[in-house]
Amino acid sequence: MATLTADATDRSVPRAVRQMMPMARDVVEAIAVQNGVCVRPVPLRRIDTHTGRSEIIDVPCGATLEAKCPSCARRNRHLRMAQCREGWHLDEEPAPSPNGPDDYQRHLVELRADLQAWRDREHAAGREVADIDHALTDLDIEINQAGMRGSVVGPATPRRKRSTKRRQDAPDLPRRARRNTTLGRTFTAPDGKVYRPSMFITLTLPSYGRVNGGVPVDPDSYDYARAARDALHFSKLVDRFVQNLRRVAGYDVQYFATVEPQKRLAPHLHMAVRGTLPRAEVRAIVAATYHQVWWPPCDKVRFEGDHLPVWVERSERSDGTPYPDGQSGDYLDPETGEILSTWEQALDRLDQDDEAEPLHVLRFGSQVDVQGVLAGSKDSDQCIRYLSKYLTKNIGDALDPDNPAQRAHAERLADALRFEPCSPSCPNWLRYGIQPKHAKASMLPGRCRGKAHKPEHLGYAGRRVLVSRKWSNKTLAEHKQDRRLWVMEALGLLNTPADDPRRYTWRPVASNDPDVPPIGLRLLRSIAERHRWRAAMNRLQTAADGPDLSATESREAA
Ligand SMILES: [Zn+2]
Ligand SMILES: [Zn+2]
Repeated sequence: MATLTADATDRSVPRAVRQMMPMARDVVEAIAVQNGVCVRPVPLRRIDTHTGRSEIIDVPCGATLEAKCPSCARRNRHLRMAQCREGWHLDEEPAPSPNGPDDYQRHLVELRADLQAWRDREHAAGREVADIDHALTDLDIEINQAGMRGSVVGPATPRRKRSTKRRQDAPDLPRRARRNTTLGRTFTAPDGKVYRPSMFITLTLPSYGRVNGGVPVDPDSYDYARAARDALHFSKLVDRFVQNLRRVAGYDVQYFATVEPQKRLAPHLHMAVRGTLPRAEVRAIVAATYHQVWWPPCDKVRFEGDHLPVWVERSERSDGTPYPDGQSGDYLDPETGEILSTWEQALDRLDQDDEAEPLHVLRFGSQVDVQGVLAGSKDSDQCIRYLSKYLTKNIGDALDPDNPAQRAHAERLADALRFEPCSPSCPNWLRYGIQPKHAKASMLPGRCRGKAHKPEHLGYAGRRVLVSRKWSNKTLAEHKQDRRLWVMEALGLLNTPADDPRRYTWRPVASNDPDVPPIGLRLLRSIAERHRWRAAMNRLQTAADGPDLSATESREAA
Protein backbone atom coordinates (compact mmCIF):
# COMPACT_ATOMS: atom_id res chain seq x y z
CA MET A 1 0.00 0.00 0.00
CA ALA A 2 2.98 2.24 0.64
CA THR A 3 3.60 2.60 -3.08
CA LEU A 4 0.20 4.18 -3.57
CA THR A 5 0.83 7.00 -1.14
CA ALA A 6 4.56 7.50 -1.85
CA ASP A 7 5.57 10.80 -3.38
CA ALA A 8 6.63 10.35 -6.98
CA THR A 9 9.01 13.28 -6.73
CA ASP A 10 10.63 11.90 -3.56
CA ARG A 11 14.02 10.67 -4.73
CA SER A 12 14.44 8.52 -1.63
CA VAL A 13 11.65 6.28 -2.92
CA PRO A 14 13.35 3.46 -4.86
CA ARG A 15 13.25 3.87 -8.65
CA ALA A 16 11.54 0.50 -9.06
CA VAL A 17 8.72 1.65 -6.79
CA ARG A 18 8.38 4.96 -8.58
CA GLN A 19 8.11 3.13 -11.88
CA MET A 20 5.16 1.17 -10.53
CA MET A 21 3.18 4.36 -10.03
CA PRO A 22 0.55 5.07 -12.67
CA MET A 23 1.44 7.72 -15.22
CA ALA A 24 -0.47 10.90 -14.45
CA ARG A 25 -1.52 11.14 -18.10
CA ASP A 26 -3.02 7.61 -18.00
CA VAL A 27 -4.96 8.48 -14.87
CA VAL A 28 -6.35 11.61 -16.49
CA GLU A 29 -7.36 9.56 -19.51
CA ALA A 30 -9.04 6.91 -17.36
CA ILE A 31 -11.02 9.59 -15.50
CA ALA A 32 -11.97 11.19 -18.79
CA VAL A 33 -13.30 7.84 -20.06
CA GLN A 34 -15.23 7.34 -16.79
CA ASN A 35 -16.86 10.72 -17.37
CA GLY A 36 -17.64 10.00 -21.00
CA VAL A 37 -15.19 12.70 -22.11
CA CYS A 38 -13.58 12.23 -25.52
CA VAL A 39 -9.88 11.38 -25.12
CA ARG A 40 -8.92 11.96 -28.75
CA PRO A 41 -10.44 15.41 -29.23
CA VAL A 42 -9.88 17.21 -32.53
CA PRO A 43 -8.80 20.80 -31.97
CA LEU A 44 -10.40 23.40 -34.24
CA ARG A 45 -9.72 27.11 -34.32
CA ARG A 46 -12.88 29.19 -33.91
CA ILE A 47 -12.64 32.72 -35.21
CA ASP A 48 -15.10 35.32 -34.01
CA THR A 49 -15.73 37.46 -37.09
CA HIS A 50 -17.11 40.30 -34.93
CA THR A 51 -14.09 40.73 -32.69
CA GLY A 52 -11.40 38.99 -34.72
CA ARG A 53 -10.54 36.92 -31.65
CA SER A 54 -9.76 33.27 -32.17
CA GLU A 55 -9.60 30.34 -29.77
CA ILE A 56 -8.98 26.63 -29.88
CA ILE A 57 -12.02 24.44 -29.28
CA ASP A 58 -11.96 20.67 -28.89
CA VAL A 59 -14.48 18.68 -30.90
CA PRO A 60 -15.15 15.08 -29.73
CA CYS A 61 -13.52 12.65 -32.15
CA GLY A 62 -16.83 10.87 -32.55
CA ALA A 63 -18.37 14.03 -33.99
CA THR A 64 -15.84 14.72 -36.71
CA LEU A 65 -14.62 11.29 -37.72
CA GLU A 66 -15.61 7.75 -36.95
CA ALA A 67 -15.39 7.36 -33.20
CA LYS A 68 -11.82 6.52 -32.35
CA CYS A 69 -11.78 6.86 -28.56
CA PRO A 70 -13.52 4.61 -26.02
CA SER A 71 -15.81 7.41 -24.76
CA CYS A 72 -17.15 8.37 -28.18
CA ALA A 73 -17.33 4.74 -29.29
CA ARG A 74 -19.39 3.82 -26.23
CA ARG A 75 -21.65 6.80 -26.72
CA ASN A 76 -22.20 5.97 -30.38
CA ARG A 77 -22.88 2.35 -29.55
CA HIS A 78 -25.58 3.27 -27.05
CA LEU A 79 -27.20 5.70 -29.47
CA ARG A 80 -27.17 3.00 -32.13
CA MET A 81 -28.70 0.36 -29.84
CA ALA A 82 -31.50 2.74 -28.95
CA GLN A 83 -32.06 3.52 -32.62
CA CYS A 84 -32.15 -0.18 -33.53
CA ARG A 85 -34.63 -0.98 -30.75
CA GLU A 86 -37.01 1.83 -31.75
CA GLY A 87 -37.47 0.80 -35.35
CA TRP A 88 -37.46 -2.96 -35.39
CA HIS A 89 -40.99 -3.83 -34.38
CA LEU A 90 -42.86 -0.63 -35.27
CA ASP A 91 -46.58 -1.20 -35.72
CA GLU A 92 -47.26 2.23 -37.19
CA GLU A 93 -45.70 3.86 -40.23
CA PRO A 94 -42.89 6.19 -39.21
CA ALA A 95 -43.50 9.89 -39.84
CA PRO A 96 -42.06 11.24 -43.08
CA SER A 97 -38.53 12.50 -42.54
CA PRO A 98 -38.06 16.24 -42.20
CA ASN A 99 -36.12 18.05 -44.89
CA GLY A 100 -33.89 21.09 -44.83
CA PRO A 101 -30.47 21.19 -43.25
CA ASP A 102 -30.20 21.59 -39.53
CA ASP A 103 -27.52 23.64 -37.85
CA TYR A 104 -25.18 20.73 -37.47
CA GLN A 105 -25.37 19.96 -41.17
CA ARG A 106 -24.87 23.61 -41.99
CA HIS A 107 -21.87 23.71 -39.72
CA LEU A 108 -20.34 20.71 -41.46
CA VAL A 109 -20.81 22.24 -44.88
CA GLU A 110 -19.26 25.50 -43.74
CA LEU A 111 -16.36 23.60 -42.29
CA ARG A 112 -16.03 21.80 -45.59
CA ALA A 113 -15.92 25.11 -47.45
CA ASP A 114 -13.27 26.51 -45.14
CA LEU A 115 -11.17 23.39 -45.38
CA GLN A 116 -11.40 23.45 -49.16
CA ALA A 117 -10.27 27.07 -49.26
CA TRP A 118 -7.39 26.22 -46.98
CA ARG A 119 -6.40 23.29 -49.18
CA ASP A 120 -6.45 25.46 -52.30
CA ARG A 121 -4.25 28.07 -50.64
CA GLU A 122 -1.72 25.48 -49.48
CA HIS A 123 -1.74 23.82 -52.89
CA ALA A 124 -1.20 27.14 -54.66
CA ALA A 125 1.75 27.80 -52.33
CA GLY A 126 3.25 24.47 -53.40
CA ARG A 127 2.81 22.81 -50.01
CA GLU A 128 1.89 19.22 -49.24
CA VAL A 129 -1.91 18.75 -49.09
CA ALA A 130 -2.28 14.98 -48.75
CA ASP A 131 -3.36 15.30 -45.12
CA ILE A 132 -5.92 17.97 -45.92
CA ASP A 133 -7.27 15.83 -48.73
CA HIS A 134 -7.63 13.05 -46.26
CA ALA A 135 -9.51 15.26 -43.83
CA LEU A 136 -11.75 16.41 -46.70
CA THR A 137 -12.62 12.82 -47.56
CA ASP A 138 -13.46 12.09 -43.92
CA LEU A 139 -15.55 15.21 -43.67
CA ASP A 140 -17.48 14.29 -46.81
CA ILE A 141 -18.31 10.95 -45.24
CA GLU A 142 -19.46 12.74 -42.11
CA ILE A 143 -21.60 15.09 -44.18
CA ASN A 144 -23.31 12.11 -45.79
CA GLN A 145 -23.74 10.49 -42.40
CA ALA A 146 -25.42 13.63 -41.14
CA GLY A 147 -28.21 12.75 -43.51
CA MET A 148 -27.34 14.83 -46.58
CA ARG A 149 -27.38 13.00 -49.85
CA GLY A 150 -24.85 13.35 -52.62
CA SER A 151 -21.59 15.22 -52.66
CA VAL A 152 -20.99 18.79 -51.57
CA VAL A 153 -18.87 19.45 -54.64
CA GLY A 154 -21.45 17.82 -56.88
CA PRO A 155 -20.62 15.48 -59.73
CA ALA A 156 -17.68 16.86 -61.71
CA THR A 157 -19.15 15.73 -65.00
CA PRO A 158 -22.70 14.90 -65.97
CA ARG A 159 -23.78 11.49 -64.72
CA ARG A 160 -22.74 8.72 -67.05
CA LYS A 161 -25.42 6.87 -68.91
CA ARG A 162 -24.47 3.25 -68.97
CA SER A 163 -25.43 1.19 -71.97
CA THR A 164 -28.28 -1.17 -71.24
CA LYS A 165 -26.18 -4.31 -71.35
CA ARG A 166 -24.28 -3.02 -68.32
CA ARG A 167 -27.40 -2.75 -66.25
CA GLN A 168 -27.43 -5.20 -63.39
CA ASP A 169 -30.09 -7.78 -64.17
CA ALA A 170 -32.73 -8.40 -61.61
CA PRO A 171 -32.40 -12.05 -60.68
CA ASP A 172 -35.23 -14.40 -61.51
CA LEU A 173 -37.22 -14.30 -58.30
CA PRO A 174 -40.91 -14.29 -57.47
CA ARG A 175 -42.40 -10.83 -56.94
CA ARG A 176 -45.29 -9.82 -54.77
CA ALA A 177 -47.56 -6.97 -55.72
CA ARG A 178 -46.17 -3.85 -54.13
CA ARG A 179 -47.94 -2.47 -51.09
CA ASN A 180 -47.14 1.05 -50.01
CA THR A 181 -46.08 0.26 -46.46
CA THR A 182 -42.93 -0.29 -44.43
CA LEU A 183 -44.66 -2.68 -42.03
CA GLY A 184 -44.53 -6.43 -42.25
CA ARG A 185 -47.44 -8.82 -42.07
CA THR A 186 -49.20 -9.70 -38.85
CA PHE A 187 -50.44 -13.12 -37.82
CA THR A 188 -53.43 -13.82 -35.61
CA ALA A 189 -53.27 -16.79 -33.29
CA PRO A 190 -56.39 -18.92 -32.62
CA ASP A 191 -56.75 -17.13 -29.27
CA GLY A 192 -57.02 -13.81 -31.14
CA LYS A 193 -53.59 -12.53 -30.19
CA VAL A 194 -51.86 -10.65 -33.01
CA TYR A 195 -48.18 -11.26 -33.72
CA ARG A 196 -45.92 -9.04 -35.78
CA PRO A 197 -42.74 -11.04 -36.27
CA SER A 198 -39.48 -9.57 -37.51
CA MET A 199 -36.26 -11.11 -38.81
CA PHE A 200 -32.61 -11.21 -37.88
CA ILE A 201 -30.45 -12.17 -40.87
CA THR A 202 -26.73 -12.97 -40.94
CA LEU A 203 -24.97 -13.02 -44.32
CA THR A 204 -21.38 -14.01 -45.07
CA LEU A 205 -19.07 -13.98 -48.07
CA PRO A 206 -18.09 -17.22 -49.84
CA SER A 207 -15.16 -19.44 -48.93
CA TYR A 208 -11.71 -18.49 -50.24
CA GLY A 209 -10.12 -21.72 -49.02
CA ARG A 210 -10.39 -23.84 -45.89
CA VAL A 211 -9.73 -22.08 -42.61
CA ASN A 212 -9.00 -23.36 -39.14
CA GLY A 213 -9.42 -20.95 -36.24
CA GLY A 214 -9.70 -18.08 -38.71
CA VAL A 215 -6.41 -18.93 -40.44
CA PRO A 216 -6.11 -20.54 -43.90
CA VAL A 217 -5.07 -24.18 -43.77
CA ASP A 218 -3.14 -23.64 -47.02
CA PRO A 219 -2.25 -19.95 -47.44
CA ASP A 220 -0.84 -20.53 -50.94
CA SER A 221 -4.15 -21.69 -52.35
CA TYR A 222 -6.32 -19.27 -50.31
CA ASP A 223 -7.90 -16.83 -52.78
CA TYR A 224 -6.64 -13.53 -51.34
CA ALA A 225 -7.31 -11.60 -54.57
CA ARG A 226 -10.98 -12.53 -54.43
CA ALA A 227 -11.19 -11.90 -50.69
CA ALA A 228 -9.72 -8.42 -51.24
CA ARG A 229 -12.15 -7.47 -54.04
CA ASP A 230 -15.13 -8.91 -52.16
CA ALA A 231 -14.26 -6.80 -49.11
CA LEU A 232 -13.77 -3.66 -51.23
CA HIS A 233 -17.20 -3.93 -52.86
CA PHE A 234 -19.13 -5.62 -50.04
CA SER A 235 -21.45 -2.68 -49.39
CA LYS A 236 -22.68 -2.78 -53.02
CA LEU A 237 -23.63 -6.41 -52.60
CA VAL A 238 -25.62 -5.49 -49.49
CA ASP A 239 -27.45 -2.80 -51.51
CA ARG A 240 -28.39 -5.40 -54.13
CA PHE A 241 -29.66 -7.74 -51.45
CA VAL A 242 -31.94 -5.05 -50.06
CA GLN A 243 -33.27 -4.22 -53.54
CA ASN A 244 -34.06 -7.87 -54.20
CA LEU A 245 -35.55 -8.36 -50.74
CA ARG A 246 -37.94 -5.44 -51.35
CA ARG A 247 -38.95 -6.75 -54.77
CA VAL A 248 -39.83 -10.15 -53.43
CA ALA A 249 -41.42 -8.97 -50.16
CA GLY A 250 -43.69 -6.51 -51.96
CA TYR A 251 -43.32 -3.80 -49.30
CA ASP A 252 -40.78 -1.13 -48.45
CA VAL A 253 -38.62 -3.35 -46.22
CA GLN A 254 -36.71 -1.44 -43.54
CA TYR A 255 -33.50 -2.59 -41.91
CA PHE A 256 -30.82 -1.78 -39.39
CA ALA A 257 -27.57 -3.58 -40.18
CA THR A 258 -24.00 -3.68 -39.00
CA VAL A 259 -20.91 -4.85 -40.87
CA GLU A 260 -18.55 -6.84 -38.72
CA PRO A 261 -15.38 -8.85 -39.18
CA GLN A 262 -15.33 -12.61 -39.10
CA LYS A 263 -12.37 -14.40 -37.60
CA ARG A 264 -11.05 -15.14 -41.10
CA LEU A 265 -11.04 -11.30 -41.55
CA ALA A 266 -13.84 -11.16 -44.13
CA PRO A 267 -16.69 -8.71 -43.49
CA HIS A 268 -20.11 -10.13 -42.72
CA LEU A 269 -23.49 -8.61 -42.10
CA HIS A 270 -26.04 -8.73 -39.31
CA MET A 271 -29.36 -7.25 -40.27
CA ALA A 272 -32.46 -6.55 -38.21
CA VAL A 273 -35.37 -6.48 -40.67
CA ARG A 274 -38.86 -5.18 -39.95
CA GLY A 275 -41.42 -7.76 -41.01
CA THR A 276 -40.87 -11.35 -42.04
CA LEU A 277 -40.59 -13.62 -45.07
CA PRO A 278 -40.45 -17.40 -45.23
CA ARG A 279 -36.92 -18.58 -44.47
CA ALA A 280 -36.65 -20.47 -47.75
CA GLU A 281 -37.52 -17.31 -49.64
CA VAL A 282 -34.80 -15.31 -47.89
CA ARG A 283 -32.33 -18.05 -48.77
CA ALA A 284 -33.43 -17.96 -52.41
CA ILE A 285 -32.94 -14.18 -52.50
CA VAL A 286 -29.46 -14.46 -50.99
CA ALA A 287 -28.49 -17.15 -53.50
CA ALA A 288 -29.77 -15.11 -56.44
CA THR A 289 -28.12 -11.83 -55.39
CA TYR A 290 -24.94 -10.71 -57.10
CA HIS A 291 -23.15 -7.47 -57.89
CA GLN A 292 -21.07 -6.77 -60.99
CA VAL A 293 -18.22 -4.27 -60.73
CA TRP A 294 -18.00 -2.53 -64.11
CA TRP A 295 -14.56 -1.03 -63.76
CA PRO A 296 -11.77 -1.05 -66.37
CA PRO A 297 -9.66 -4.20 -66.34
CA CYS A 298 -6.66 -4.20 -64.01
CA ASP A 299 -5.11 -7.56 -64.69
CA LYS A 300 -2.14 -6.22 -66.70
CA VAL A 301 0.50 -4.22 -64.83
CA ARG A 302 1.82 -1.46 -67.11
CA PHE A 303 3.81 0.67 -64.69
CA GLU A 304 5.59 -0.31 -61.49
CA GLY A 305 8.77 0.22 -59.49
CA ASP A 306 10.70 3.16 -60.96
CA HIS A 307 8.83 2.89 -64.24
CA LEU A 308 5.87 5.12 -63.38
CA PRO A 309 3.70 7.61 -65.28
CA VAL A 310 4.87 11.22 -65.09
CA TRP A 311 2.62 14.14 -64.21
CA VAL A 312 2.49 17.23 -66.42
CA GLU A 313 0.77 20.30 -65.04
CA ARG A 314 -1.11 22.29 -67.70
CA SER A 315 -3.86 24.85 -67.88
CA GLU A 316 -5.80 22.96 -70.54
CA ARG A 317 -5.72 19.69 -72.43
CA SER A 318 -3.39 19.41 -75.41
CA ASP A 319 -6.50 19.36 -77.63
CA GLY A 320 -7.61 22.68 -76.17
CA THR A 321 -10.51 21.31 -74.11
CA PRO A 322 -10.69 22.30 -70.46
CA TYR A 323 -9.91 19.76 -67.76
CA PRO A 324 -12.72 18.27 -65.75
CA ASP A 325 -13.32 19.86 -62.39
CA GLY A 326 -10.45 19.47 -59.97
CA GLN A 327 -7.82 18.38 -62.48
CA SER A 328 -4.94 20.53 -63.74
CA GLY A 329 -2.73 18.19 -65.72
CA ASP A 330 -2.23 14.69 -67.07
CA TYR A 331 -0.22 11.56 -66.44
CA LEU A 332 1.93 10.49 -69.39
CA ASP A 333 3.71 7.28 -70.32
CA PRO A 334 7.32 8.01 -69.19
CA GLU A 335 8.78 6.61 -72.45
CA THR A 336 6.39 7.51 -75.23
CA GLY A 337 4.90 10.68 -73.73
CA GLU A 338 1.46 9.32 -74.62
CA ILE A 339 -1.32 10.70 -72.40
CA LEU A 340 -2.84 7.89 -70.36
CA SER A 341 -6.57 7.27 -70.65
CA THR A 342 -8.62 9.28 -68.25
CA TRP A 343 -11.10 7.47 -66.03
CA GLU A 344 -13.99 8.62 -68.26
CA GLN A 345 -12.23 7.42 -71.42
CA ALA A 346 -11.53 4.05 -69.83
CA LEU A 347 -15.23 3.69 -68.91
CA ASP A 348 -16.29 4.71 -72.43
CA ARG A 349 -14.03 2.05 -73.87
CA LEU A 350 -15.58 -0.48 -71.53
CA ASP A 351 -19.07 0.55 -72.68
CA GLN A 352 -18.18 0.17 -76.35
CA ASP A 353 -16.56 -3.23 -75.96
CA ASP A 354 -19.17 -5.93 -76.51
CA GLU A 355 -16.81 -8.61 -75.24
CA ALA A 356 -16.07 -6.78 -72.00
CA GLU A 357 -16.58 -8.63 -68.74
CA PRO A 358 -17.13 -7.02 -65.36
CA LEU A 359 -13.93 -6.63 -63.37
CA HIS A 360 -15.48 -8.57 -60.54
CA VAL A 361 -18.70 -10.32 -59.60
CA LEU A 362 -19.62 -10.65 -55.94
CA ARG A 363 -21.98 -13.14 -54.35
CA PHE A 364 -22.78 -14.14 -50.81
CA GLY A 365 -21.59 -17.43 -49.37
CA SER A 366 -23.89 -20.33 -48.61
CA GLN A 367 -23.80 -19.63 -44.86
CA VAL A 368 -27.09 -17.81 -44.29
CA ASP A 369 -28.82 -17.51 -40.95
CA VAL A 370 -32.41 -16.33 -40.63
CA GLN A 371 -34.12 -16.02 -37.25
CA GLY A 372 -37.66 -14.98 -36.52
CA VAL A 373 -37.84 -12.45 -33.68
CA LEU A 374 -40.84 -11.18 -31.76
CA ALA A 375 -41.11 -7.68 -30.35
CA GLY A 376 -40.16 -7.39 -26.71
CA SER A 377 -38.78 -10.92 -26.53
CA LYS A 378 -35.48 -11.87 -24.96
CA ASP A 379 -34.27 -12.81 -28.45
CA SER A 380 -34.90 -9.29 -29.63
CA ASP A 381 -32.70 -7.75 -26.93
CA GLN A 382 -30.01 -10.33 -27.47
CA CYS A 383 -29.94 -9.65 -31.21
CA ILE A 384 -29.58 -5.91 -30.62
CA ARG A 385 -26.65 -6.47 -28.29
CA TYR A 386 -25.15 -8.83 -30.82
CA LEU A 387 -25.68 -6.32 -33.63
CA SER A 388 -23.78 -3.63 -31.81
CA LYS A 389 -21.14 -5.88 -30.28
CA TYR A 390 -18.35 -4.80 -32.55
CA LEU A 391 -19.37 -1.20 -33.06
CA THR A 392 -16.74 0.12 -30.69
CA LYS A 393 -14.03 -1.60 -32.69
CA ASN A 394 -12.33 -1.43 -36.07
CA ILE A 395 -12.90 -4.27 -38.50
CA GLY A 396 -9.24 -5.20 -38.02
CA ASP A 397 -9.62 -5.48 -34.25
CA ALA A 398 -10.80 -9.04 -34.75
CA LEU A 399 -7.08 -9.69 -35.06
CA ASP A 400 -5.44 -11.42 -32.15
CA PRO A 401 -2.01 -9.73 -31.79
CA ASP A 402 -0.56 -12.81 -30.06
CA ASN A 403 -1.43 -15.14 -32.89
CA PRO A 404 1.42 -15.11 -35.45
CA ALA A 405 -0.50 -17.23 -37.95
CA GLN A 406 -3.40 -14.77 -37.92
CA ARG A 407 -0.98 -11.84 -38.22
CA ALA A 408 0.58 -13.45 -41.28
CA HIS A 409 -2.91 -13.99 -42.69
CA ALA A 410 -3.74 -10.29 -42.20
CA GLU A 411 -0.47 -9.26 -43.86
CA ARG A 412 -1.21 -11.40 -46.91
CA LEU A 413 -4.65 -9.83 -47.19
CA ALA A 414 -3.12 -6.33 -46.86
CA ASP A 415 -0.66 -7.27 -49.64
CA ALA A 416 -3.53 -8.32 -51.88
CA LEU A 417 -5.22 -4.98 -51.20
CA ARG A 418 -2.11 -2.82 -51.75
CA PHE A 419 -2.41 -2.49 -55.54
CA GLU A 420 -6.14 -3.13 -55.86
CA PRO A 421 -8.00 0.06 -56.88
CA CYS A 422 -10.32 0.99 -54.02
CA SER A 423 -12.31 3.67 -55.86
CA PRO A 424 -12.32 5.53 -59.20
CA SER A 425 -9.90 8.06 -57.73
CA CYS A 426 -7.45 5.51 -56.30
CA PRO A 427 -3.81 6.17 -57.37
CA ASN A 428 -3.48 2.43 -58.07
CA TRP A 429 -5.15 2.95 -61.47
CA LEU A 430 -1.83 4.39 -62.67
CA ARG A 431 -0.30 0.93 -62.32
CA TYR A 432 -2.74 -0.29 -64.97
CA GLY A 433 -2.23 2.67 -67.30
CA ILE A 434 -5.34 4.67 -66.37
CA GLN A 435 -5.45 8.15 -64.87
CA PRO A 436 -7.49 8.05 -61.66
CA LYS A 437 -10.60 10.19 -61.54
CA HIS A 438 -9.64 13.69 -60.25
CA ALA A 439 -6.00 12.92 -61.06
CA LYS A 440 -3.49 15.24 -59.43
CA ALA A 441 0.27 15.49 -58.96
CA SER A 442 2.30 13.04 -56.85
CA MET A 443 -0.09 10.10 -56.95
CA LEU A 444 1.77 6.84 -56.39
CA PRO A 445 0.39 3.36 -56.98
CA GLY A 446 0.57 1.31 -53.79
CA ARG A 447 0.43 4.47 -51.70
CA CYS A 448 -3.29 5.18 -51.68
CA ARG A 449 -4.35 6.76 -48.40
CA GLY A 450 -7.89 5.50 -48.75
CA LYS A 451 -9.38 3.77 -45.74
CA ALA A 452 -9.84 0.46 -47.57
CA HIS A 453 -6.10 -0.18 -47.81
CA LYS A 454 -5.43 0.39 -44.12
CA PRO A 455 -4.71 -2.75 -42.13
CA GLU A 456 -7.36 -1.90 -39.54
CA HIS A 457 -10.09 -1.81 -42.21
CA LEU A 458 -9.13 -4.93 -44.17
CA GLY A 459 -10.55 -3.70 -47.45
CA TYR A 460 -13.94 -2.58 -46.15
CA ALA A 461 -14.18 1.21 -46.27
CA GLY A 462 -17.96 1.48 -46.10
CA ARG A 463 -20.08 2.47 -43.16
CA ARG A 464 -20.27 0.07 -40.25
CA VAL A 465 -23.93 0.78 -39.54
CA LEU A 466 -26.44 0.74 -42.39
CA VAL A 467 -29.89 2.06 -41.53
CA SER A 468 -32.71 2.40 -44.05
CA ARG A 469 -34.38 5.80 -44.34
CA LYS A 470 -37.69 4.82 -42.80
CA TRP A 471 -36.37 2.74 -39.94
CA SER A 472 -37.61 5.03 -37.17
CA ASN A 473 -37.71 8.68 -38.05
CA LYS A 474 -38.79 9.72 -34.65
CA THR A 475 -35.73 8.39 -32.97
CA LEU A 476 -33.49 9.24 -35.85
CA ALA A 477 -34.45 12.85 -35.31
CA GLU A 478 -33.92 12.48 -31.59
CA HIS A 479 -30.70 10.66 -32.18
CA LYS A 480 -29.49 13.46 -34.43
CA GLN A 481 -30.70 16.05 -31.99
CA ASP A 482 -28.73 14.42 -29.21
CA ARG A 483 -25.65 14.26 -31.39
CA ARG A 484 -26.13 17.81 -32.60
CA LEU A 485 -26.52 19.18 -29.10
CA TRP A 486 -23.42 17.34 -28.09
CA VAL A 487 -21.42 18.79 -30.97
CA MET A 488 -22.86 22.26 -30.57
CA GLU A 489 -22.11 22.17 -26.89
CA ALA A 490 -18.53 21.18 -27.66
CA LEU A 491 -18.22 23.90 -30.27
CA GLY A 492 -19.70 26.56 -28.07
CA LEU A 493 -22.43 27.10 -30.65
CA LEU A 494 -25.14 27.00 -28.03
CA ASN A 495 -23.99 30.47 -27.03
CA THR A 496 -24.01 31.76 -30.58
CA PRO A 497 -26.13 34.93 -30.73
CA ALA A 498 -29.31 34.20 -32.62
CA ASP A 499 -29.02 37.41 -34.63
CA ASP A 500 -25.86 36.23 -36.35
CA PRO A 501 -25.57 32.47 -36.67
CA ARG A 502 -22.59 32.94 -38.97
CA ARG A 503 -20.57 34.82 -36.43
CA TYR A 504 -17.93 32.12 -36.11
CA THR A 505 -15.76 30.51 -38.76
CA TRP A 506 -13.69 27.42 -38.22
CA ARG A 507 -10.19 26.43 -39.25
CA PRO A 508 -8.41 23.14 -38.80
CA VAL A 509 -5.24 23.33 -36.73
CA ALA A 510 -2.09 21.24 -36.97
CA SER A 511 -1.48 19.00 -33.97
CA ASN A 512 1.84 20.75 -33.32
CA ASP A 513 0.27 24.22 -33.34
CA PRO A 514 1.81 26.05 -30.34
CA ASP A 515 -1.64 27.44 -29.44
CA VAL A 516 -3.01 23.95 -28.79
CA PRO A 517 -2.50 23.16 -25.08
CA PRO A 518 -1.09 19.75 -24.12
CA ILE A 519 -3.64 16.97 -24.32
CA GLY A 520 -3.58 16.32 -20.56
CA LEU A 521 -4.57 19.89 -19.86
CA ARG A 522 -7.34 19.78 -22.45
CA LEU A 523 -8.72 16.57 -20.96
CA LEU A 524 -8.70 18.04 -17.45
CA ARG A 525 -10.63 21.06 -18.71
CA SER A 526 -13.18 18.84 -20.45
CA ILE A 527 -13.67 16.76 -17.32
CA ALA A 528 -14.24 19.90 -15.24
CA GLU A 529 -16.66 21.17 -17.85
CA ARG A 530 -18.52 17.85 -17.83
CA HIS A 531 -18.87 18.06 -14.05
CA ARG A 532 -20.19 21.61 -14.29
CA TRP A 533 -22.58 20.60 -17.02
CA ARG A 534 -23.84 17.60 -15.09
CA ALA A 535 -24.39 19.74 -11.99
CA ALA A 536 -26.35 22.24 -14.08
CA MET A 537 -28.46 19.44 -15.55
CA ASN A 538 -29.18 18.10 -12.06
CA ARG A 539 -30.26 21.56 -10.92
CA LEU A 540 -32.61 21.82 -13.90
CA GLN A 541 -33.94 18.35 -13.19
CA THR A 542 -34.59 19.21 -9.55
CA ALA A 543 -36.28 22.44 -10.57
CA ALA A 544 -38.43 20.59 -13.10
CA ASP A 545 -39.48 18.05 -10.47
CA GLY A 546 -40.23 20.76 -7.93
CA PRO A 547 -43.72 22.11 -7.17
CA ASP A 548 -42.95 25.64 -8.42
CA LEU A 549 -42.46 24.75 -12.03
CA SER A 550 -45.48 22.46 -12.29
CA ALA A 551 -47.56 25.28 -10.83
CA THR A 552 -46.28 27.55 -13.58
CA GLU A 553 -47.10 24.90 -16.16
CA SER A 554 -50.66 24.44 -15.02
CA ARG A 555 -51.12 28.20 -14.99
CA GLU A 556 -49.91 28.36 -18.55
CA ALA A 557 -52.14 25.51 -19.53
CA ALA A 558 -55.16 27.21 -18.03
ZN1 LIG B 1 -13.62 10.70 -28.80
ZN1 LIG C 1 -7.09 3.24 -53.07
